[in-house]
Amino acid sequence: MSEADGPRLGAALGVVGGGQLGRMLGLAARPLGHPLHVLAPPSNAGAPARAVAARWVEGAFSDLEAHRTLAADVAALTFEVEDAEPDVLAALEAEGIAVHPSPAALRIVRRRASQRRWLAEKGFPMPALRVVESVDALAAAEAELASAAGPPFVKTDRGGFDGRGQARGKASQDPAMRAALEEQPLVVEAAVPFERELSVLVARDAAGNVAVHPVAENVHIQAVLHHALLPARVDEPTAAEARDLAKRLAEAIGLVGILVVELFVTRDGLLVNEMALRPHNTFHGADRACALGQFEQQLRAVLGWPLGDPELQRPTALVNLFGDLWEGGGGAGLDLATALAVPTVQVHLYEKAATRPRRKMGHLTATGATVDEALARALEAERRLRAAAGIPPFGEAP
Ligand code: AMP
Repeated sequence: MSEADGPRLGAALGVVGGGQLGRMLGLAARPLGHPLHVLAPPSNAGAPARAVAARWVEGAFSDLEAHRTLAADVAALTFEVEDAEPDVLAALEAEGIAVHPSPAALRIVRRRASQRRWLAEKGFPMPALRVVESVDALAAAEAELASAAGPPFVKTDRGGFDGRGQARGKASQDPAMRAALEEQPLVVEAAVPFERELSVLVARDAAGNVAVHPVAENVHIQAVLHHALLPARVDEPTAAEARDLAKRLAEAIGLVGILVVELFVTRDGLLVNEMALRPHNTFHGADRACALGQFEQQLRAVLGWPLGDPELQRPTALVNLFGDLWEGGGGAGLDLATALAVPTVQVHLYEKAATRPRRKMGHLTATGATVDEALARALEAERRLRAAAGIPPFGEAP
C-alpha cells in the first residue's frame, strides 16, 4: 500500500510473531474487516495467534523468503515481538512494503544496551547505569552502583523479560551472568527506590497525529507483572508529565504504531525503565477501561485509520494468570466458574500449548466505581482460582 492512498477496506495486516499480542491484535482487527496474516517460527506451531490467523506462514525471524511470503498480500506489516529481525524488515521496506514501526526504530529498542544508549543520547531521565562487557567491569559497576536501596540490577542485553535474564547481588560471580557476558553486554542499573511503577501507551500515525491512553499502574511480584490498574493512582501533574514524556519518546523515535514506556515514580521525578514498540501486558484491560483498547489503536495507527480518543470510561484492574494455576489442583485445570462468579470479572485465556509455573497463560479483568473496587474484585477472582487449585498466593512458597 502506498501511504498516500489511505487504508484499504478489508486488506490484511501482516504481523511477525504469533504470541498472545498477535492473538489480541487479530481479535481487534476482525470487526474492522481486516484479516491477520501471521509469521511465526516452526517451534510456535501451538502459538496463541494461531486460532485467529487467516493465514499462517512458518518461518524463522531471519528468513527473508518467508517474510516475502507474508508480505505478498498485506496492506502493512508490524511485529509483536522484539525478536523480529530489523535487517529482514528493512529489506522488505526497501522493496516497498509498509513496515510500522520502522525497522530502524526496532533496531534501537530491541536490545537493552542500545535502548539505554539511545535514551541517554536523547536526554531522557534514567537510573544511574553502566553497560559492561567484561567480568572485571561488571564487578566494578556492581560496587560503584550499590546504594542504600541495595545492590544494583544486572540485566542481559537480550532475551530478558518477566524476571528472566536478571540478577541482583554478586552477579559477577553468577555462572549464568558470566556465561551471558561471553555473548552479549550486560546493563548494570542502580536500584531505584520507586514509589510506583507506571506504563504509558502512545499511538502515532504516519501524519504525526498522537493519542495517549490514560496512564496505567504496574505492580510486579518477583520481577514479573502481577497486576495493573487503569487509571494509575497518581496525581494529575505526575500523570501529565508521564504522558508528555511518552509523546516526546514517540516523536524522537519517529513512531508509526504504538509505543509503551515503563516508568518509575521517584521522589525526584520520573525515570524510564524500558520501552517497547508494541502492545503491552499493562494495557490488556484498556478495551474495558477506555473508549478503545490498545490493539484497535495499534491497528489504526499501523494501517492509517484515524486514531481513537482513548478517554477513560471506567476504572479497570487486570491480574495475570500464570501456569502454576494449571499445574495445581492435581492437573484439574482452571476452575473458571469460581472466577466468573465475581461481579464484572472477565477472563481471556491465551490457549498456549505448554504451561510453566511463571508463564503468562491468560489474564482476568474487573471493573468498578473506583480503581480500588476494580482491584478488589480482580484479586478476589484470583484468590478463588488459586484456592481451588490448592496453591498459595503468587510469589509465596508452597
Ligand atoms: P524489567 O524487566 O527491566 O522491566 O524489570 C522488571 C521489574 O524489576 C521492574 O518492573 C521493577 O519492578 C524491577 N526493577 C527493574 N530494574 C529496577 C531498578 N533499576 N530499580 C528498581 N527496580 C527495578
